[in-house]
Amino acid sequence: MNHEKSPQSFSAKDSNRRSGRLFIISAPSGAGKSTLCKALLKRFGNIIFSISYTTRKPRPGEQDGVEYFFITQAEFEKGIKNGKCAEWAVVHENYYGTSTEYLDKELLSGKDILLEIDVQGARQILEKYPESITIFIMAPSFDELRNRLESRGADDPHVIERRMQNAKQEVAQKDLYRHIIVNDNLSRAEDEFLSLIERYRSSG
Ligand code: 5GP
Repeated sequence: MNHEKSPQSFSAKDSNRRSGRLFIISAPSGAGKSTLCKALLKRFGNIIFSISYTTRKPRPGEQDGVEYFFITQAEFEKGIKNGKCAEWAVVHENYYGTSTEYLDKELLSGKDILLEIDVQGARQILEKYPESITIFIMAPSFDELRNRLESRGADDPHVIERRMQNAKQEVAQKDLYRHIIVNDNLSRAEDEFLSLIERYRSSG
């Protein structure tokens, strides 16, 4: 199921592109974004994952400089003040942000970059990098999303409630995105997602 907003997605600007592309992926938690992004990185070895900065604590198994750069609130706020962030947001009570220097360096060297960020961040990136390719991933329904969050057993009921509220707010802003993928079935959604990226990458 592909709800493409603009069939003219592959713009003239894209075809004259000399630097890398930015792919922005957003989704409520539980929609399957991480699984799809992992599949993307596996399929396209030469797309790089933008490692965000965050003030949230690492989860078991997470390593500094791999999933995120884990920094303190004071460090993060200093980065904001010094204009280091291409975008930043508070998500689930923690700061998250992307470094401008990193993005610009990699884009200039022609690399395609995957940004796995929330809707607030996507909005800011689109202002600065309007040619970014935006993809929103969602579960087929809120009931299904709740089922997924409950069955993965990772969160307390009040955390699930908060994630559901966030999900409703994010889904309400889905029209910001050029493409919407409904993850009703993982292997089907993965095919749709990977062929979408493939189309952009083979378009010059
Ligand atoms: P988690 O802590 O579960 O890894 O991520 C929580 C949320 O923060 C997800 O929706 C994720 O997309 C978002 N996120 C991760 N990195 C960034 C970032 O650099 N900027 C923004 N705006 N959101 C981010």
